[in-house]
Amino acid sequence: MGEKYQALVHHLMDIRNVNRAEALLGWDQQVNMPPGGSKARASQMATLARIGHEMLTDEQTDLMLKEAHLENPDAPYDSDEASMIRVVREDYRENTCIPSDLIAEHAEATGLGHNIWKEARVKNDFASFVPILKRILDLTRRMADYIGYPDHPYDALLGQYERGMTSKEVKRLFDEHKPPLVNLIARINADDDRVSDDILRRDYAIDKQEQICVDIATALGYDFNRGRIDVATHPFAMGLAQGDVRITTRYNKNFLSPALFGTMHEAGHAMYEQGVSPALEGTPLSRGTSLGVHESQSRMWENMVGRSKGFWGWAFPKLQAMFPESLSDVSLETFYRAINKVGQSYIRVESDEATYNLHIMLRFELELEMVAGNIPVENLPKEWNERFEAFFGIVPPTDTLGVLQDIHWSNGLIGYFPTYALGNMLAAQYYKRALEDHPQIPAEIAQGKFDTLLKWLNVNIHQHGRKFTSAEITQRITGESIKSSEYMKYLDNKYTEIYGL
Ligand code: ZN
Repeated sequence: MGEKYQALVHHLMDIRNVNRAEALLGWDQQVNMPPGGSKARASQMATLARIGHEMLTDEQTDLMLKEAHLENPDAPYDSDEASMIRVVREDYRENTCIPSDLIAEHAEATGLGHNIWKEARVKNDFASFVPILKRILDLTRRMADYIGYPDHPYDALLGQYERGMTSKEVKRLFDEHKPPLVNLIARINADDDRVSDDILRRDYAIDKQEQICVDIATALGYDFNRGRIDVATHPFAMGLAQGDVRITTRYNKNFLSPALFGTMHEAGHAMYEQGVSPALEGTPLSRGTSLGVHESQSRMWENMVGRSKGFWGWAFPKLQAMFPESLSDVSLETFYRAINKVGQSYIRVESDEATYNLHIMLRFELELEMVAGNIPVENLPKEWNERFEAFFGIVPPTDTLGVLQDIHWSNGLIGYFPTYALGNMLAAQYYKRALEDHPQIPAEIAQGKFDTLLKWLNVNIHQHGRKFTSAEITQRITGESIKSSEYMKYLDNKYTEIYGL
């Protein structure tokens, strides 16, 4: 490792320190901060964001990248050095191509937008959200133009979350995924009285839920010496350092699922960040490579492991012992079916594994048209409801349960939704490959042993951090690109059995 490269890494670590300090303020804002602190906190975070952005976009960064490259121009593609230079060069380009006054305008509009959306959602008043959404959309389109795109402005936006992915590819994946998915859901709906989740809505004392969540996260391999769990309204995982990756969850006394599966989900995200190679710690590569790959980790632990019968063969007796008054009359089979119930829900975040990707497809269709300027913002509720009926056979009774339900647009996160569905597809592809390499994994899970799977994920995905793109990781692991058929197979197998299709 040469001198110039080391100088570059020091510079990048300084930037990462600023970013992580900002992230810690954000964690505190969502977990501990009294409401009175919100104004000052927003200002503190904005200052750190500006400093971090200035440091990254300084010409010095560009110069250091060039010097580090010249020092060792033949470093192998997958070396830490070449990867660092390649990835940060693109970070630099992405961050310098948008004029700073446009970034500031966008930050201001989305800051306002968030509060306006919150109120509009509570009051079921889409009209009050229209002017600011128009402004956010307009600013977002301008940003897409600066970032640049080969085909559709949406590509520029999507690429911020899933580098290298295009709207054309997403459309191809969704077109292939939708017909068999719709068919499966129709077959399930015809038999939907076969499964009830009433038993999950009994009495579950919160202190005991906390205990079981810690026990399960620990068993999966989330390292509490390098993490902690707290309560937040909107659960998230946050990496502040490799030795400090935190998760949050939420508890509902009369519904067991949010805490249980939310914790496994966030632990999946956190184990990804805890597993990045120590050699990359403190650099811009020391985190997950894309939102899609990140979501593949959370969904794998939450669903493929956490909603499997094998897993509950091990965990259910523990859960029963914790909640004898609510679960002593419940069989493992009844519990397993309850946690896998497919239902018609208006709300994406409450939807089950089978219908989840349909919610995403609806948003993707709309966003493409919105970004292209084909749908006037005023018409979004109508467009939403028509599509919702075509997708799910029901019409949301209010905009609160429809077009206003998600936080993303108000925060300027347009182009973000597809990554959730990509994560589900990738999870199925990776899990299949892990099982081919280690056929004993399901039997181990049924005994409460998860280290073979976690180690496989560490070696094949986690350790690389951001060195490889999502497409590169998938190619390295499976020899293929992303596809929907493995996820479809997984769903078909699971629900055929549960619903006796
Ligand atoms: Zn997630």
